[in-house]
Amino acid sequence: MFKILKKRDVSPSVKLIEVEAPLVANSAKSGQFVVLRLKEGGERIPLTIADKNKAAGTLTIVFQVVGKTTQELATYKEGDFIKDLLGPLGKATDFGSAKNIVCVAGGVGIAEIYPEVKELHEDKKKVTTIIGARNKSLLFFEDELKTVSSAFYVTTDDGSYGRKGFVSEVLKELLEKDKSIDLVVAVGPVIMMKVVSDLTKNYGVRTIVSLNPIMLDATGMCGACRVTVGGKTLFGCVDGPSFDGHQVDFGELMKRLNQFKDEEKNSAEIYKLKCPECR
Ligand SMILES: Cc1cc2nc3c(=O)[nH]c(=O)nc-3n(C[C@H](O)[C@H](O)[C@H](O)COP(=O)(O)OP(=O)(O)OC[C@H]3O[C@@H](n4cnc5c(N)ncnc54)[C@H](O)[C@@H]3O)c2cc1C
Repeated sequence: MFKILKKRDVSPSVKLIEVEAPLVANSAKSGQFVVLRLKEGGERIPLTIADKNKAAGTLTIVFQVVGKTTQELATYKEGDFIKDLLGPLGKATDFGSAKNIVCVAGGVGIAEIYPEVKELHEDKKKVTTIIGARNKSLLFFEDELKTVSSAFYVTTDDGSYGRKGFVSEVLKELLEKDKSIDLVVAVGPVIMMKVVSDLTKNYGVRTIVSLNPIMLDATGMCGACRVTVGGKTLFGCVDGPSFDGHQVDFGELMKRLNQFKDEEKNSAEIYKLKCPECR
């Protein structure tokens, strides 16, 4: 059992929890994730380790409420327990020898990019961060990211905060101006990671994306999270979740992410009918 020590809303649909998990906190690296099961018989969901505190033995997880299990997790309070927490899983992100990195994040990807920006900053790399969301209410971690970034940009699709437009537009300007950028890291909606990868390909800049395929066992056995990268079938859980964005078959990933849409919708609706707090 894993105790929730802190919980707060970072935006109307995004929640942050701090969970007691000393063994995972001690060995987790940026880019890695955990699989949670809220209760016996519950669904297993993968969530990125957004931060860790080795001394306190805690993990920070930031999740967007999208369906049944994340709705249920959103009802958990400080002091409640999560039945299972498995991790750290996946490979740590390999930044190679890059020195001048641009980290780009959209939506809940903002939480996922934070440990990567922090690690690059601690390694004394030049790291520029661009975050974006549909509107101001969906943005978070601005202060945290500013503290560990050499330069920082915010965009919103509707212009309600920062610059109006997409993160990729700021990235394009930076790539035009600064020819020493040697790595781009992108985390967020699949379409955003595709657009970023297509853009950086034109500039010949290595790009790492963090993929979010549907994942079940998360230990490389079931194959549910398979993705095609450079023509090879790889598993998001054990070979990733970070991959070379220029090699990923994003079209296939988008199709596979939609394969259980009807079941997910039914499950969320049934949960809403049953759960008094969700009505
Ligand atoms: C490596 C990895 C790290 C992730 N990190 C985060 C994170 O830090 N924060 C966050 O908000 N989300 C993260 N996700 C996505 C998160 O796992 C899903 O949002 C969650 O499983 C949705 O479950 P649900 O029951 O609430 O929604 P559902 O209604 O079941 O699904 C809604 C959508 O979530 C995705 N999804 C559903 N089940 C899974 C699954 N088993 N594995 C992966 N995706 C699924 C699908 O796109 C689906 O259409 C991550 C996914 C992966 C693979």
